[in-house]
Amino acid sequence: MSNNCELNLKSQYLSEVLEDLRKKNSNEPEFLQAVKEVLTSLEPVILKHEEEYRRVSLLERMVEPERIISFRVPWIDDNGNVRVNRGYRVQFNGAIGPYKGGLRFHPSVNQSIMKFLGFEQIFKNALTTRPIGGGKGGSDFDPKGKSDFEIMKFCQSFMNELQKYIGQDLDVPAGDIGVGGREIGYMFGQYRKIRNTYEAGVLTGKGLTYGGSLARTQATGYGLLYFMREMLQSNNIILQGKTAIISGSGNVAIYACEKAQQLGVKVLGMSDSSGCIYDENGIKLDIVKEIKEVKRGRIKEYLNSVPSAKYMENSGSVPSIYTIKADIILPCATQNDINIETAELIVSNGAIAIGEGANMPCTNEAVEYFHKNKVLVAPGKAANAGGVATSALEMTQNSMRDAWTFEKVDKKLESIMINIFKQCQKADAEYNLGCNYVAGANIAAFKKIAEAMIAQGVI
Ligand code: NDP
Repeated sequence: MSNNCELNLKSQYLSEVLEDLRKKNSNEPEFLQAVKEVLTSLEPVILKHEEEYRRVSLLERMVEPERIISFRVPWIDDNGNVRVNRGYRVQFNGAIGPYKGGLRFHPSVNQSIMKFLGFEQIFKNALTTRPIGGGKGGSDFDPKGKSDFEIMKFCQSFMNELQKYIGQDLDVPAGDIGVGGREIGYMFGQYRKIRNTYEAGVLTGKGLTYGGSLARTQATGYGLLYFMREMLQSNNIILQGKTAIISGSGNVAIYACEKAQQLGVKVLGMSDSSGCIYDENGIKLDIVKEIKEVKRGRIKEYLNSVPSAKYMENSGSVPSIYTIKADIILPCATQNDINIETAELIVSNGAIAIGEGANMPCTNEAVEYFHKNKVLVAPGKAANAGGVATSALEMTQNSMRDAWTFEKVDKKLESIMINIFKQCQKADAEYNLGCNYVAGANIAAFKKIAEAMIAQGVI
């Protein structure tokens, strides 16, 4: 994180908080990046209320998780070897409701990544207008190459410990990278066995036969496109007829592609961590779904079905997907996918908008560069909030012991996303930010969280 002199902050209080944060968390770069991005964008609000916020140490409390749980996850692989991973749950802020946020299984998972995701989640959840606080969890377990039985054994061991800290009124995890319907099913089964109770609302993203919600699988990707359509419309741009590229080919990427195509967008490329496919005739999504959702294979297998498409392996500092020219760029893989070098290429290729399906896929420098070059940015906190919003709808259905139709959930999702865009737009206008929806989202969410925290006293 650059020092505060470079940031040119007017608020002394904000400078002090950032300085202190940097000292305390010097080995957590992703967390520092996420907090810096949010807090610096809040400066106009902080300047208005500096004395009040300082008096109750609001920012200091907001950047400190209420609780971090870290635990051992031992499991036995198919060869009979004992393996050990590390599990986490960061219960960051429960002022607005039970902690809510996904579980990530990926070898890169560490405390910094858990804290950055948990911190972002507080703001995202506030924007949904549902009563949910912010949390995140996961493990450095790598699901790649593991048998189904190994995945089950890992999930069960993970839940043996996690179950002590979660509950439908306390903390409600869901999926994220490496955690989809299969993993949620195994974890839910283990929770039910240990607790000896059917607590459907303890996890979201469940299968449809045991309390899951229709449209939850699609929600993050669909929501991203609803947000994008609104953002473009309010800038007098029509989404229909545009081209797009999507990084990733997991849950968010696949359903972003599906909704984009439904809305008349031609998707030219998708990727995974090895490389990308380019299909000038438009991606055939049923083939991608078969590779990723059924076979759990690699994206380059697309060429087995569509030999006219191209595959480009990742090499060098710019992921190959971003070398493809398109109007709309949808990073839906992982954090810091788009750095300044990639941003420069995207701008020189003439893109008009970025929609963050992933969490923090653009570095702070990349976002600044996009804004400077009048490229619209739909920030992840707002644009990918459709997933957690629909998780909250799943919790509502579980509490009511009801199951809504796909159309009903999708309609609610659409109206939530429109409302989220309006909140970003309102804050953007109020603070004269010049179509900076990144700052707009942060400000709109912050005001709610601040009000709830102040109302509940110093805890
Ligand atoms: P999945 O595990 O379903 O898919 C992840 C995709 O991203 C895969 O294609 C994967 O490729 C790729 N990827 C993962 N890590 C890397 C990496 N280090 N470099 C390049 N590519 C990578 O995850 P989701 O689709 O659920 O999540 C994607 C993003 O969206 C994450 O940032 C997540 O936090 C965010 N998100 C997810 C929500 C949800 O509802 N699922 C809700 C809101 C945000 P490979 O298979 O090769 O690893």
